[in-house]
Amino acid sequence: MSDVQFGICHICGNYGELTFEHIPPQKAFNWQRAKIYNGYEALNKINGEPAKFINLQQGMGKYSLCEHCNNTTGSWYAQTYRDIAMDVVKYLHNNDPLKHGDVVTFTFKECPILRFVKQVIAMFCSLLPYEENQRLGFDKLILNKESNSVNKELFDLRMYLTPPETGQLMCGPTVVLYKAEESIKSGCVADLAVYPFGFILNLTPEIDVKYGTSILKMLDANYHDRHAFEIALMYLERYNTDLPLPLIYKELPK
Ligand SMILES: [Zn+2]
Repeated sequence: MSDVQFGICHICGNYGELTFEHIPPQKAFNWQRAKIYNGYEALNKINGEPAKFINLQQGMGKYSLCEHCNNTTGSWYAQTYRDIAMDVVKYLHNNDPLKHGDVVTFTFKECPILRFVKQVIAMFCSLLPYEENQRLGFDKLILNKESNSVNKELFDLRMYLTPPETGQLMCGPTVVLYKAEESIKSGCVADLAVYPFGFILNLTPEIDVKYGTSILKMLDANYHDRHAFEIALMYLERYNTDLPLPLIYKELPK
């Protein structure tokens, strides 16, 4: 079996051989087997029918980036992501189990927080088509190590805590329907749940997603800044851990 895959790199747009991008970085608790469903198979799964999935022996990820983009984003951003994930996992292990809807405030000391949020955006780049990453300016943001310049009117990026048994879940941009004053409206979100975190990329920011905490303000930091960063994160459980769909959390307690 050949592992060589060709295509367009989701970050730089060049055509060539693609490398396996670990989402999240392999060191950040991403070495177990993972299952990925596409949208149609997800529907089969919901209907209780057999659904095909891709079984990834090497952890979750996609053949989505050229070697250069994979290596540079890995060396610029991944370590900070791993450090923060490790701190949070330690906290979760050393404290009482959380309940759905609980909010925990974390303070990360001397943390180059811009690198963390850019790692998150780099992970979403693998889920989004290259053209969409270009529209959002993610390509330029990620390829320039020190850049923090991106149009924050085009999206919202939110973060939450996820239970270990959620497994790893990657939902590419998906249309979600919701009730709004006597009509049904739609929004477009992508959801990436990777213990201990989950992330929601809302591509229709005019629609208010009430789950999670926006982390757009992390983009105000500079690459070399090492400040303390405080964030309150909500612990969210899904009503079904097998459904690979975004925003299917249990009702929030009143
Ligand atoms: Zn590339």
